[in-house]
Amino acid sequence: MLVDTHCHLDFPQFDADRDEIIKEAHSRGVNRLINVGADLKSSIASCALAAKYEHIYAAVGVHPHDADSFTNETFEEIARLAKNAKVAAIGEIGLDYFRNLSAQENQERVFKQLIGLAKSLNKPIIVHSRNADNFTLEILKSLMPLKAVIHCFSGDDIFLQQCLDLGFYISFTCNITYLKAESLRLTAKAVPLDRLMLETDSPYLPPEGKRGRRNDPANVKTVALKLAELKDIELSELEKITTENAFNFFKLK
Ligand SMILES: [Zn+2]
Repeated sequence: MLVDTHCHLDFPQFDADRDEIIKEAHSRGVNRLINVGADLKSSIASCALAAKYEHIYAAVGVHPHDADSFTNETFEEIARLAKNAKVAAIGEIGLDYFRNLSAQENQERVFKQLIGLAKSLNKPIIVHSRNADNFTLEILKSLMPLKAVIHCFSGDDIFLQQCLDLGFYISFTCNITYLKAESLRLTAKAVPLDRLMLETDSPYLPPEGKRGRRNDPANVKTVALKLAELKDIELSELEKITTENAFNFFKLK
């Protein structure tokens, strides 16, 4: 049994075959999915998917790309959605200083506001951090204690150690299979098993050999295989531990 802790099945890339993709992943042992909101619209859609499928949970939040258009009304709507029992986390939230699609000050403001929401509801957060690791860390540190997972981890060993010291979880996507990802694989190898989680970030980041195509949650198995190889343990062991981690972290049933 596997958990894809981060996918976007509400995105239009799945409009033609969403139900089949969900069934296919389930038949391959991907028995729990967290569908992650990136803005208000996709947070609402995530909750709708979680209501439709017993094994799908939702995360609600606003991606740093959309921080410029975040208003008090957006916050109120996200806060209302977050009270739903199938909402397992607040996310994805964070900072993206790579694409800078929203002003950095707005990114920081929204990130802090949504962390505050997570804390008030005692829910974990799913953090997106790109080219902003020191700024991300500064905000997270200032708002401890926090239950956080760094999604699609792409940082260096120093950032990894700082996150581990704060008790955070680390989640990897199929990008650890990319030919040029040698240093990321070394970083992944250093993550203790009891802090590891798996995700696909579907429809993005398909595994090596399928690049340029749409990713889907069944490929979380590819992440598991690569991490088992890196950690030099049996696949069944890796699956068991990462599934337990996901169940505990997100309080899945
Ligand atoms: Zn994502």
